[in-house]
Amino acid sequence: MIRTFNFGAGPASIPTEVLEEAQQELLDFKGSGLSIMEASHRSALYEDVHNEAISLMKELYDIPKNYEVLFLQGGASTQFTMIPLNLSKGGTIEFVNSGAWSKKAIKEAKILGLNTKVIASSEDTNFDRIPNDISFSNDIDYAHITSNNTIYGTQYREYPKTKAPLVVDASSDIFSYKIDWSNIGLLYAGAQKNAGPSGVTIVIIREDLIGNHKENTPSMLRYSTHADTNSLYNTPPTFGIYILGLTLKWIKAKGGIEAINRLNQQKAKLIYDTIDNSNGFYIGHAQKESRSLMNVSFNIRGKDKNLEKELIEITEKSNMVGLKGHRSVGGIRASIYNAVSLEAVQALVDIMNKFREENDVK
Ligand code: PMP
Repeated sequence: MIRTFNFGAGPASIPTEVLEEAQQELLDFKGSGLSIMEASHRSALYEDVHNEAISLMKELYDIPKNYEVLFLQGGASTQFTMIPLNLSKGGTIEFVNSGAWSKKAIKEAKILGLNTKVIASSEDTNFDRIPNDISFSNDIDYAHITSNNTIYGTQYREYPKTKAPLVVDASSDIFSYKIDWSNIGLLYAGAQKNAGPSGVTIVIIREDLIGNHKENTPSMLRYSTHADTNSLYNTPPTFGIYILGLTLKWIKAKGGIEAINRLNQQKAKLIYDTIDNSNGFYIGHAQKESRSLMNVSFNIRGKDKNLEKELIEITEKSNMVGLKGHRSVGGIRASIYNAVSLEAVQALVDIMNKFREENDVK
């Protein structure tokens, strides 16, 4: 069996070792004669899986003691509503608008009728950078950023300093670098890029921010409901949490998040160097200082749709999927999350170099 090199933006590559372990245990989990999928979420069998995923996450991500890890559903998109419902105190929420997902977060806070303010934006240049004029006010309910912009391929080098709690949508770069938790109020992510399959939403929240929801907030949308019950208020996405746990074990076996980060830097450098050394044949979408280590979005000289299509077709014939760019940028997008191997990236770069040699007429 040949595993396809998956450069998709999400759901994305899952480490082969994780899938193999899941496969081995699929019919008989730890001698129970059951698949973990069939186990009650109230059974000791499942609770061990659940609690191990939480404790491994705390260990690998250095999550301070005054934070809770929650496993929710509804994707990161539900957090766009749940966060303002729980963290707004009727004051202002400030946002950085760095892309389509930031805009969606802003839109949902507005639907709730809350005071929102965009304090920095890169929309004027089709989100080709993280704005550099970010300065959040002190007297706000919270500040919101999207740490990695999946579509445009831009990423913060470091998070802005804030006095108010910083809320981070880390959907496309969770577990890919160490976090300075000092001003973070809440960090959230759908699992389906760096943390396993879709269906699990990870929320890491500072304890003092739990329980401040408005009175008419539905139970399922209160962080306190899930924090009070160890995310077992209702049936959690048990299989997804199990795979998330295996993914965390895989990160640990690789040497932890710092080791993964070093590998990610190496992978990204291979592609960015190929772009930079192409004499303008390949044009990266992101400005250099905002380049993402997770998603590399680029076009071919003159946004040549025929050449871009041809390159994508070649990758597809070469055991690769997921390289078509998002419609708002076009071109090619290589998502090189934690589970995408150096070997996969090297194979892509080889194709890019050969394609340029054959097609760069200038
Ligand atoms: N935020 C970011 C940065 C994303 O990339 C995505 C998904 N691509 C989302 C939010 C939405 O996530 P979900 O599909 O889990 O709702």
